Amino acid sequence: MRRTIIAGNWKNNGLRADAVALATGIRTALDGDGGSGGVEVLVCPPFTAIASVESALAGSEIGIGGQNIFWKEKGAYTGQIAPSMLKDAGCAYVIIGHSEPRGRFGVPDPDFDAPILAYFGDGDETVNRKLKAALVAGLIPIICVGETLAERQAGHTDTVVESQTKAALVGIPAEQASGLIFAYEPVWAIGTGEVCESGEADRVCGVVRSAVGELYGPEAAESVRVQYGGSVKPDNAKELLGKPNIDGALVGGASLKAGDFVAIVAAAPERQ
Ligand code: PEP
Repeated sequence: MRRTIIAGNWKNNGLRADAVALATGIRTALDGDGGSGGVEVLVCPPFTAIASVESALAGSEIGIGGQNIFWKEKGAYTGQIAPSMLKDAGCAYVIIGHSEPRGRFGVPDPDFDAPILAYFGDGDETVNRKLKAALVAGLIPIICVGETLAERQAGHTDTVVESQTKAALVGIPAEQASGLIFAYEPVWAIGTGEVCESGEADRVCGVVRSAVGELYGPEAAESVRVQYGGSVKPDNAKELLGKPNIDGALVGGASLKAGDFVAIVAAAPERQ
């Protein structure tokens, strides 16, 4: 039995006061709604607000995650955040390989042309290094995979998702692969309001699971949790979360409103 996991990715939103207000709002709304009811819930604030959010959530069941990490523990790497720093700041989780730091935006701003996008440089190799570093540090990684619209239209969805999944896992031993968390996030559905049809989202989450199975066998495949992410909202969450291969949601825009985020948690099967 895989425990449903709902994560809020706040991205580049919020000064400390905003983040504390949002975290407090989620905590209060969740308590008022009967708690998380067996659902694993976490929020991923911007780095600068993690410590403040940690104080606001102290003693609650809501976990905290970083939105990214660097793979080196220390050294002359200006601007980078080591896994141990995230832990030290109060994070138990970290998002790795989100399509935005991979430079694959669902809705690129008009001025995000190719030279600018090149600065959002995660690729399969860095995702793999970050995953290894997160595991060494004892962080729980959420590994994101997903195809762009052009890749989907060209019929490459499964190949892209399978190859990103397998590339992330290079050199990861079986005992560490069991129980990992993935997020299938079709890039074209992120921040666009266009949600992947639930049957198709379920099928592609199954592609992630099968890729894990091909590397580590059926038990590992059954043990990994696969979230769906891409315009999850209160009104589509129940349908998505009811699918057998979808073990949770990675929520961007709707996680910035406490009421919407808690409504998504409430839509999880454990809460029904
Ligand atoms: C995300 O950024 O991971 C995401 C799924 O965003 P949104 O819910 O806004 O589409």
